[in-house]
Amino acid sequence: MAKISDNPLDSARKQLRAAAAILKIEPKVLAVLSEPKNELTDDIPVKMDDGETEYFNSFRIQHNDALGPYKGGIRFGSDVSMDEVKALAMWMTWKTALVGIPFGGAKGGIICDPKKFSQAELERLSRGYVQQYVDSIGPHKDIPAPDMYTNAQIMAWMLDEYEKLTGRHAPGAFTGKPVELGGIGSRESATGYGGFVAVQQVAKLLKLKPKSTTVAIQGFGNVGHHAAQFLFDAGYKIVALSDSQGAIYNKKGLNPAAAMTCKLEKGMIAECYYAGSVVNGSKSGVIKNEELLELGVDILMPAALESQITAKNANSIKAKVVVELANGPTTPEADRILQQKKIKVVPDVLANSGGVIGSYFEWVQNNYGYYWADDEVHDKLSKLVTAAFAKAVAKSREHNADIRTGAYLLAVSRVARAIGLRRGI
Ligand code: NAD
Repeated sequence: MAKISDNPLDSARKQLRAAAAILKIEPKVLAVLSEPKNELTDDIPVKMDDGETEYFNSFRIQHNDALGPYKGGIRFGSDVSMDEVKALAMWMTWKTALVGIPFGGAKGGIICDPKKFSQAELERLSRGYVQQYVDSIGPHKDIPAPDMYTNAQIMAWMLDEYEKLTGRHAPGAFTGKPVELGGIGSRESATGYGGFVAVQQVAKLLKLKPKSTTVAIQGFGNVGHHAAQFLFDAGYKIVALSDSQGAIYNKKGLNPAAAMTCKLEKGMIAECYYAGSVVNGSKSGVIKNEELLELGVDILMPAALESQITAKNANSIKAKVVVELANGPTTPEADRILQQKKIKVVPDVLANSGGVIGSYFEWVQNNYGYYWADDEVHDKLSKLVTAAFAKAVAKSREHNADIRTGAYLLAVSRVARAIGLRRGI
């Protein structure tokens, strides 16, 4: 029996091998695709507010740059690991290739508990990361962006440090920056917007009407809350939301804006039981995080962490469609079970590609020094996600396979071809 694992790197490698077998990728090229080109890791010394110096383990994993400079976010967290960052870097390579933007794939991380840091400590940690990796990043080398527990302010500190160390302006060295420093207003909502576009496409495919379509979202952070808002504004019924500390459910529907106001005030979503936009005050709508995944909704959107739908709970998933806003939320074993249950999965490389597409538009504008209107960004982003969705579905039909396989066949073949051309293979 195949080994069952919830390790994201095992999942990423299995997904690659499955696509490579169908595509009959040259062994030499597969060897290149299976491992990151560069694995950078070092401890970052940070002077804490109490005067003590602490060291935080950090990574920058550069998976592949055959199609363009490395591109990928930096996440902070106690559970960040080398394997997780390697998997995330590989997924970035497929995502940029799938949507056809001229980037490769990378990812970074720092093992730390950002919730325990003061702002001054966070700033020193962020600047320390850049001091560590300054020679390996840059607008035409490797372009970091925010990810879990990192944001525009952190990108501002990182950019400032990078420009100080290199002695020149280079706004294209980081994306997801504040608007004042060359960021674009719509970057923060870009991943959620792309997820919304993906939902619209799958709804069209399955003939789901927004008003009668229920949605549960795991992870009410940057990506989850923007996706919830776009869907709510388009008439979808958001019935459940969660964060790391709990979940809420109301079959009549929740108002994401009101839920976010409450979450910011009370610190956790489980303290916000809402009926419509009105605080109900009752705890009856508070459910466990695991229960949210197993609700009988039309669309389930994991928007938190990897390996949330596994061989252990896949049989209990009742949604008609899973739209993966998080990276790697479904393990390959769970994927097979969902397929057997005829649950459609819109894979992460497609469903959350809006983030890196938004970053691409930010980078293009930084390099040009010419800035477009925000609605132009949404319009261009929507076209790229819609086109990638149609191509992935068409490819999946050609091979009588799921959408993930269709997306992987397109992405892996593009990167493999670029490597082949560069190396004469
Ligand atoms: P975030 O830190 O803003 O939000 C994450 C949310 O998930 C938080 O609300 C957190 O409380 C919640 N969460 C954590 N553990 C949970 C659990 N066990 N159950 C329920 N909720 C839990 O991060 P984000 O930027 O929104 O990223 C979310 C996911 O989307 C990640 O997988 C990330 O890699 C992916 N992603 C993000 C972007 C982006 O532009 N930010 C782009 C592409 C993919």
